Amino acid sequence: MKNSESHFISSRREAMKYIAAGSVAGLWGLFGSPVARAEKAETPAYAKGLPPVKIKSVKAIATAPAGSNLIVVKVETTEPGLYGLGCATFTQRAEVVVTAINSYLNDFCAGKDVDNIEDIWQGAYVSSYWRNGPVLNNALSGLDQALWDIKGKRANMPVYQLFGGKARFAVPCYSHASGRNPEEVAADVQKYMERGFQHIRIQQGGYGAVGILGSNPDFKEAGFGGATDSFMDQRAYLNSVPKMFEVVRKVCGEEVELLHDIHERVQPMDAINLIKRLEDYHPFFIEDPFSPENMEWFKQLRASTSVPIAMGELFNNLNEFKMPMVNQWFDFIRIHVSQIGGITPAMKIARLGELFNVRTAWHGPGDVSPVGHAANCHMDLAVWNFGIQESVSFSEKLQSVFSGCPTMNKGYMSVNEVPGLGVDINEKEAAKYPINTKSNWQVRKNDGTLIRP
Ligand code: MG
Repeated sequence: MKNSESHFISSRREAMKYIAAGSVAGLWGLFGSPVARAEKAETPAYAKGLPPVKIKSVKAIATAPAGSNLIVVKVETTEPGLYGLGCATFTQRAEVVVTAINSYLNDFCAGKDVDNIEDIWQGAYVSSYWRNGPVLNNALSGLDQALWDIKGKRANMPVYQLFGGKARFAVPCYSHASGRNPEEVAADVQKYMERGFQHIRIQQGGYGAVGILGSNPDFKEAGFGGATDSFMDQRAYLNSVPKMFEVVRKVCGEEVELLHDIHERVQPMDAINLIKRLEDYHPFFIEDPFSPENMEWFKQLRASTSVPIAMGELFNNLNEFKMPMVNQWFDFIRIHVSQIGGITPAMKIARLGELFNVRTAWHGPGDVSPVGHAANCHMDLAVWNFGIQESVSFSEKLQSVFSGCPTMNKGYMSVNEVPGLGVDINEKEAAKYPINTKSNWQVRKNDGTLIRP
């Protein structure tokens, strides 16, 4: 018998005597009370926790260095020099998000403990009573991301560490290839393949395929609609996509993963028939087959084709993902993180996706700030059921305002290892690029009927 064991038994016998005598106080006298023991032992630095820090102010920074309106939330704290940044961008209605942040969130947050992200999120979410809309959700997203940025800085860790650390060394991304005809699209795909991209989205005719046919539709000749309204020929678009896939596969081979975004702009049954025609070209995914008003069509789509589907960038509320997830209506969660309410709800959906074999494909367009792209990337690194990330390039002008932007190498995105989200903003530079409030973006059919995205 080892010494320590014999000591334990003899102590135990002693203890039994004390217990039999009904003396708990006496037992503590033998071993020392738990409190006394805890007080005596030196608490290691790692277990001491951090002193509480309060939110001092929440403000919006509006800037448009690359043309798109960007809104960043800055949360300042009672600890000098400690602040967080988050992306609240809603390009098309930027000014109202600024009001939501400066006039409401600032007052709601002042004096709250920066560490309690979940509590602050839940409170801000319902404090307006009516919720689930854009604007308030954008503001909330910016606040949420800024609080995660602060938490990372306080923990002295990049934010992905707080989600469990890296599940991959970097984040595979897709790029955007386009052109006026299939041959031009194929040439563009080859350029991205040479740069190391293994996933490439192919679109012909510009955003929404509005450039596939001429720009002299009947509604313009009749003087209907606005001067800047675009024309989309839905039939021409539907015919063009299989041809584009055929040419790109022929020119670029079978290895490269091809993606395509329908942008919701055709009738649901037309979208289903189009996707069926693409089966032979085995797309990585087809995105946004239906507008959010047409969710019930997914049943029909899933029964008709096995092509993987991505959806969700227009969803405002995390509950919108619940039924599609449990019914396995789509394969990729296309969350716009600065729309859904930030990292907190996005991570809940991502983790739920792991249970249903649904993968992430966060929306990553140019109207997300570098802070938002970094937030995407931190989650991408940590989530096991990551699928793919949409990538952008950060222009010099953008980087004169934002430092520490994510970087791209051979089709992979990486964040820096700075604590927090790793992106900072130069407010003086940001002020040089005021946002604009013009938003007249409309697409019409030949007879002038508006087409819903
Ligand atoms: Mg889309």
